[in-house]
Amino acid sequence: MVTMQELIEEIDKCIDCHTCTLSCPIYAYTQKEIDAPYYRLQIARKIFNREKISSDEFQSIYNCPKCEKCQVTCPSEIKIVKVIGKAREELFNQGYELLAGHQGLRDGILQRKNSVKGDPERLLEYLPENFEFDETASTLYYAGCLPGYFMKEIANSSVQILKKIGIPFKVIKDEICCGSPLVDLGDVASAKKFFEENLEIFKAHGVKELIVSCSGCYRCFTKFYPEVLGKSIKVRHIVDVIADALKAGKIQFKKLSEKVIYHDPCHLSREFGKYDAPREILKKAAELVEFLNNRQAADCCGADSAVRAGFKELSVQVALKRVDQAVGRADSLVTSCPFCTFNLNYARRKNNRNIEIQYLTTFLLKVLE
Ligand code: SF4
Ligand code: SF4
Repeated sequence: MVTMQELIEEIDKCIDCHTCTLSCPIYAYTQKEIDAPYYRLQIARKIFNREKISSDEFQSIYNCPKCEKCQVTCPSEIKIVKVIGKAREELFNQGYELLAGHQGLRDGILQRKNSVKGDPERLLEYLPENFEFDETASTLYYAGCLPGYFMKEIANSSVQILKKIGIPFKVIKDEICCGSPLVDLGDVASAKKFFEENLEIFKAHGVKELIVSCSGCYRCFTKFYPEVLGKSIKVRHIVDVIADALKAGKIQFKKLSEKVIYHDPCHLSREFGKYDAPREILKKAAELVEFLNNRQAADCCGADSAVRAGFKELSVQVALKRVDQAVGRADSLVTSCPFCTFNLNYARRKNNRNIEIQYLTTFLLKVLE
């Protein structure tokens, strides 16, 4: 558990070099100093000292998708994202009101136990017809809210690929949200209840390991559960599962002549260093091309850490910038996060950009041998 004093000491490491400013995708769009990472740290200092903050300062703490790009450029190696996350938690605990979009997101999760207001009775409709899974398996395919209820093609293609690989796994109809958006809103007490409930559900079903499609779920089980609860469950992202299966010769793809560009999702790449696995997979299935800024230097899609729910226009404009970096370089853009897929595709569609945008398994299903 990190203390306020430790957080303030972290902020004190700032040498005002402003190197972080140019890396921030939100600052790049708003061009407001208040949105520069070093400025956000100073707002956080006020919050930790229980000083009143303005509405613009409040928004600056909440409009960061926690992409971590500032952290990798900061010469003082300040944990900027950790400070921003704790500032949100402190604001929530001090009784600041959430923005309307964030309040709606929180209410939806607390009422329906998923983040997209899906009908829990309909979760398993993503399964292909007559799909058979292994009731006795200790591995669970955990779809997550967006693939489970809204972007069903992601969950559908994921289970088909897992089946092809030959991994024994099951799915459950009482799956609930991992709790990640609640942490991002600062409501860690509610998140903790979801964490406890999830672990109880897994135990009741004899689940020892999860396979997830969502980089947000991956981050939550890997990082938030141990931080908040002191325990978690083994979790693998489907990208790693497919890359391992490819190496072991358990799955093959036919190679297309089309050019595919890979977008690194922040919560999988910068945060967990998963740069190679998706590229190894895509090289087998298409001609892989790269963004000029890729891997650690990749730009964020602008959606995550509840930014899409609270600041839609900002989020879509950040996504459009990323889409435009890909247009003309490839026939399709592939990524391994449902949120990135959704937001990039939304920006593309609304602005008539000529490129296909797909989640990794949706793309792979078409080239599966
Ligand atoms: S995490 Fe990303 S969006 Fe947030 S302050 Fe740093 S660079 Fe900006
Ligand atoms: S790069 Fe780091 S040290 Fe420099 S201004 Fe930004 S937060 Fe401060």
